[in-house]
Amino acid sequence: MLICSCHERRRAAEQLATKRADQLAIVTGLLLARDPTVTPESVGDLMAQVAPAPGARAALTRHLVAHPEALTAGGSRMPKVVAEFIYAAIAAGITGLTSPGCALCGRPRTLVHTHGDSERICTTCYSRLLTATCSSCGRDGHRIRSRDVDGQPVCPRCHDRARPLEVCAGCQELRGLKRSTRDGLGYCRSCIARRAPTEPCSICGRDRRVNARTATGGAVCTGCYDKTRTGTVACDECGQVVPLAARADGRIGTGTGKNLCAGCYRHPERECGICGRTRRVALRATTVSPDICATCYQAPIVDCSVCGQHALGRRATRNGRPWCFGCQATDRIDRLLAGPDGTIPIGVKEVRDVLVATHRPRSILNNWDRIESLTLLARLARQHDELSHELLDAEGDRFSVGYLRALLVATGVLPDRDEQATRLRRFAAAVIDEIADPRHQQTLGRYVRWHVIARAKPDRHGRLNATISDRCRQEIRTAQRFLDHLTRRGRTVDDCTQADLDTWLSTRRATRIRFPRWLLDHGHLPGLALPDAVPAAGPRTQLDQDEHWALVRRMLHDEDSASIEDRAAACLVLLYAQPLSKIVSLTTDDLTLDDDGTYLRLGAEPLLLPPPLDALVTSLPIAKPFGAASTLADQRWLFPGKWAGHHQNPTSMMGRLNKLGITTRTSRNSAMLHLAATVPPAVFASLIGISTGAATKWAGYAGSNWTTYAANRTNATANPPQNQ
Ligand SMILES: [Zn+2]
Ligand SMILES: [Zn+2]
Ligand SMILES: [Zn+2]
Ligand SMILES: [Zn+2]
Ligand SMILES: [Zn+2]
Ligand SMILES: [Zn+2]
Ligand SMILES: [Zn+2]
Ligand SMILES: [Zn+2]
Repeated sequence: MLICSCHERRRAAEQLATKRADQLAIVTGLLLARDPTVTPESVGDLMAQVAPAPGARAALTRHLVAHPEALTAGGSRMPKVVAEFIYAAIAAGITGLTSPGCALCGRPRTLVHTHGDSERICTTCYSRLLTATCSSCGRDGHRIRSRDVDGQPVCPRCHDRARPLEVCAGCQELRGLKRSTRDGLGYCRSCIARRAPTEPCSICGRDRRVNARTATGGAVCTGCYDKTRTGTVACDECGQVVPLAARADGRIGTGTGKNLCAGCYRHPERECGICGRTRRVALRATTVSPDICATCYQAPIVDCSVCGQHALGRRATRNGRPWCFGCQATDRIDRLLAGPDGTIPIGVKEVRDVLVATHRPRSILNNWDRIESLTLLARLARQHDELSHELLDAEGDRFSVGYLRALLVATGVLPDRDEQATRLRRFAAAVIDEIADPRHQQTLGRYVRWHVIARAKPDRHGRLNATISDRCRQEIRTAQRFLDHLTRRGRTVDDCTQADLDTWLSTRRATRIRFPRWLLDHGHLPGLALPDAVPAAGPRTQLDQDEHWALVRRMLHDEDSASIEDRAAACLVLLYAQPLSKIVSLTTDDLTLDDDGTYLRLGAEPLLLPPPLDALVTSLPIAKPFGAASTLADQRWLFPGKWAGHHQNPTSMMGRLNKLGITTRTSRNSAMLHLAATVPPAVFASLIGISTGAATKWAGYAGSNWTTYAANRTNATANPPQNQ
């Protein structure tokens, strides 16, 4: 017997038609109760539109039968299809209904996701709620924008940065693009904003882009939206509860570490890499370009009427013709340095050539009246036939003298010399000279020569660094004061009494004791003894742990907090307790990149840098066109300075770090305590460059058990445990 299934299909179709008719009748009935003008045809169209599948149609009907109030109650406690149906019904002009809305933003959106207790929310709110630790930058509590190849979350900032640049279909610039849903082409952010459709704003009435919607679906423009926005958190400065321009958690605004309103917020200002002024940064530094201020960012490119190059300049400053900044600077330099016969003398010419080749002619022009080194060079060249170190020595210790000297050394006009060592010797000679008593003069001379200067260790580049040279000067000054102290009391080193010595050591003992101790060791001060030391207290100054780690996080992750250099230096202070004098003298040789990461040689053993610190440190040195220094920069330094061939000055770096809230002493102490508590004393000692004894003392301050650990180990070795 042959059985076909036609009749079964027919029966199924008939059943379905009956069911659909029933569902239509039910829903039409419910709507008629709110709007008597509703017809079964219009409801049928709506249902076919939002719920074409039998399952969806059944779910819609089931929910409306069980909860007829859903049509008028608003809110989000309904299946997605019910909300879609009500949106469609309202759009079709059916009255007496209340629009549902996302449980969080209230906007009439497709309610895709469940939220909390049977409420539903839109996709935008859902993605805003999804937060995680970004696998790329490590910031936590940030929205997930995308996932990387391994499925790990990536924050919006890292996502945007990793996106390849493409040509925008609107402005034709190379930008990060988004596909338009209208024409499928890629547009940049600003073009997307420009192309967005407009609507009359329901508040101000102007035809504007829609930024938000009111509860009834009215358009709200950006300006009106900002005015209606209210804050929930008080500004840390003025205390007003208003919308914030920066948040303490760094989610918006730059890392100020504070909640700040728009009135109290200040944009970060940094030195412009083109004009050299401290200004608001319009274009943030990358590894190949410096921070650039708004003025420099917008300077016009002209066809120079002198050199013919296409370069930044002024349109009509040379008798109405364009003149590039480079040619303007060259002209001024030549007029300043030329002798009476109009030529530039040898020795000055070399410096002139370097100055003229600067990448930052704008800076020379802007700072013309303040470039003392140039006027100094012009004056010296006019007064003397030949330049020498001694001529410069006679000019004192001003910045401009040092700058010019570095320039002359780097251009080969003057021979290289160890400046700190020279300065120290000059200082010592001057101090010894001030002493009246010839016997004291002799004693101090020996102390300075054999004890202070001979023991001042050059750094790893064979030079005396600024910190050590400062300390030596301090020691010499203190020794001189001891002799003054004796002279005031009518005594000399030979008849100094115990009382003289005790008075001298009653304050600032640690620094004051050095010279008397040397005197005793060398047979002076007969019959006297140094009073016993009062036990030293632990480090008094240290940051609160939370503050310390907040600073670390800000320096590691917040790009707006400071320049890349300062952030890297700050991290080395905060995490590894490195002194600034050592940080500034790091070179590219101290950095090793291999398969398992980036190693930095701080102590004897290279140290593996954790991300994102590795990226910060490997992006050093930052290209920084500092006038002449950039043309003569020593490529080895990770922190190249303003003086030709020199690394940065630790003192000015300290100034900048202080402004970031990092007082190097306190921050180093905090880092030392942390390291001391977590790293064995021997490793700690090598990393910081202190003795193992000192490291053990620090471990004691930190309350770590490394001391007991070491003691136990010694005992264990002395009495090996017996096998039982
Ligand atoms: Zn059949
Ligand atoms: Zn929403
Ligand atoms: Zn990230
Ligand atoms: Zn564009
Ligand atoms: Zn408006
Ligand atoms: Zn405020
Ligand atoms: Zn500038
Ligand atoms: Zn030119």
